[in-house]
Amino acid sequence: MAELQQPEFVYMGGQLRPWHDATLHVGCEALTRGLNVYEGLKGYWQADGQFGVVMLKRHYERLRRSARLLHIPCPWTYEAYESALLSLIDRLLRPDSDMWARTTLYVVEGHWGEGTVADLVITAYHQNKQPPAPLSVGVSTWRRSSDVALPARIKTSSNYQVGRLARIEGRPRGCQDMVLLNEAGRVAEATGACILVVRNGTVYTPPATEGALESITLDSIESLAISMGIPFVRRPIDRTELMIADEMAICGTLAELPLVRSIDGFPLPEQCPILSALQARYLKAVRSVEPHPAIQITILEGSSKRNATSASVPSIR
Ligand code: PMP
Repeated sequence: MAELQQPEFVYMGGQLRPWHDATLHVGCEALTRGLNVYEGLKGYWQADGQFGVVMLKRHYERLRRSARLLHIPCPWTYEAYESALLSLIDRLLRPDSDMWARTTLYVVEGHWGEGTVADLVITAYHQNKQPPAPLSVGVSTWRRSSDVALPARIKTSSNYQVGRLARIEGRPRGCQDMVLLNEAGRVAEATGACILVVRNGTVYTPPATEGALESITLDSIESLAISMGIPFVRRPIDRTELMIADEMAICGTLAELPLVRSIDGFPLPEQCPILSALQARYLKAVRSVEPHPAIQITILEGSSKRNATSASVPSIR
């Protein structure tokens, strides 16, 4: 099993606390009913030597939407959220690595929707600076649940149970990620990322109504594609279209935009000119090497003093 990181501090109860003190009570709804909503955010060292978090406002807005759908009050303003996240990153930041942060609203008080009180808990992990490696993926026998069961647009950890089962299923088959189909048998998404396929020069991705999270990265990739003159279309995708795709990739905040080299053992074409170009353009935008107006970066003030080179780091949680 991969070695997991244990960063020195966690943001919890309105302050930074040592990792071992950041605990929840066994009786709280966050544990008894798995009640939480969360966001995964990425921060990169920027071309000018400062550190910046990508699409922070969009993540806050999605967190609020998820909370609203699960009737979890979210009394944090955007400013309070941003300041909590940046305070933790500032504390943990290292010159040799980028960072990924999980901002979670855990339900710490309440019972079946009555008297619900949440706490904003933030953990942040160091990340290698290397671009994502190509993946082997498979199609899972597990299905993404429908909007009337466990809606995919709610980013809550219960939604990741099926992704976990899919990854367990795929591991002995040598798959690093798995495609989840929806209940109609069409492509929904991967376990923690959206799906892109190229056919005849056009990039296709399933709309959120097919059972995918409303991805922030996907919107960024769409904007980049439009600027680059690459046709980008959201439409339902059949399973067989994955096997005959000219190119395939997955995309998400943590995943970034890795190419897919095989699907259930079917090799996909090695050359992926369109998705490779989008991957390169995305990575330039998030590091402000070549900024793009659709990709907002929130700069951590005072971070430029720590800028340096890359190194290998253990896995995140
Ligand atoms: N689908 C799932 C299930 C995810 O967990 C993620 C990662 N948050 C995505 C898609 C991609 O979303 P985003 O681009 O907003 O990170």
